[in-house]
Amino acid sequence: MNYIEDFRNSDRAKKLLHSIISIISKKWVIMEMCGGQTHSMMKFGLDQLLPQQLEIVHGPGCPVCVTALELIDKAILIAKKRDVIFTSYGDMLRVPGSNSDLFSVRATGGDVRVVYSALDALQIARENPDKEVVFFGIGFETTAPANGISVLQAKRLGIQNYSVLVSQVRVPPAMELILSSSENRVQGFLAAGHVCSVMGTKEYVPISNRYHIPISITGFEPVDLLAGIFETLSMLETNIWGVKNAYSRSVSSEGNVEAQKMLDQLFEPCDRNWRGIGLIPMSGWKLRSDFQEFDAEIRFNVADVQSQESEKCIAGLILQGLKKPADCGAFQRECTPQNPLGATMVSSEGACAAYYKYRR
Ligand code: SF4
Repeated sequence: MNYIEDFRNSDRAKKLLHSIISIISKKWVIMEMCGGQTHSMMKFGLDQLLPQQLEIVHGPGCPVCVTALELIDKAILIAKKRDVIFTSYGDMLRVPGSNSDLFSVRATGGDVRVVYSALDALQIARENPDKEVVFFGIGFETTAPANGISVLQAKRLGIQNYSVLVSQVRVPPAMELILSSSENRVQGFLAAGHVCSVMGTKEYVPISNRYHIPISITGFEPVDLLAGIFETLSMLETNIWGVKNAYSRSVSSEGNVEAQKMLDQLFEPCDRNWRGIGLIPMSGWKLRSDFQEFDAEIRFNVADVQSQESEKCIAGLILQGLKKPADCGAFQRECTPQNPLGATMVSSEGACAAYYKYRR
């Protein structure tokens, strides 16, 4: 099956759009949880085709955007050390810390390298036994197996000069934070299909039942997005809630059980700070004690770092669906992709970057 052709098919998209328009009877607010969905929505102009009563707001599902400011500052501190090779996904290099970014560290002589996977970083460690090699392990449940497997491999192979600065976050606690806020406007969710391909759909059932909120597991192409919106809207309009899977070609209710077993072996849940949002209880994963020798925060003793966010940046409100990028006074003025004040303007999944690219 040609996924690009089928799921960007304009006839299928038009039919779904027509179905959405035919059932909507009043104003609704639906949140897409993933920055990839935000960008697809903007890129294909779906936000401009949907009925005006339907407001789509953007959730905190961009891993670069929610990585805590203090972790960026810790990454910068570690990367500045002379005997360190610091490795990261490319998006992280331009994310502003309190005073600097990883790109500046590299420009001033630090050995900061872009890698495409944690296993690439592990290979660098094997090739440079006289250096400490650190990988910036960011991401949601989607990246956790690929990031985590490097730690298992390092332990198995006895590689001692490798560690991970862990910034793994989990979606369900963030959804609960949004829903339990007194300011919440979100009435339905498009859950992120790739997260659910790892974790399955079962984690979302208790959330849907507790908050009486419809959730559709949704993919990333235009037809996927419209199908997810239609499923969520159908539940809203008939006053029912539940979890519907509009991305069944990739997601099962159980998810990837082998990956989940590996995650359980490596990680345990922990409280984690989300940039602009604050501490969300049990919203992160940290390495279990059996693997603490690979924890870069412990190895480099960077536990206490004082961080300072830009006062102008309202990314935290955008990530909770309370504001949109154009509401920010700095948008496309002081803050641009070339000179970002916040992470949501840097990341290829960031909402501010999407508005800058497609809706300026
Ligand atoms: S436009 Fe820039 S300063 Fe404003 S919220 Fe977005 S990232 Fe922050």
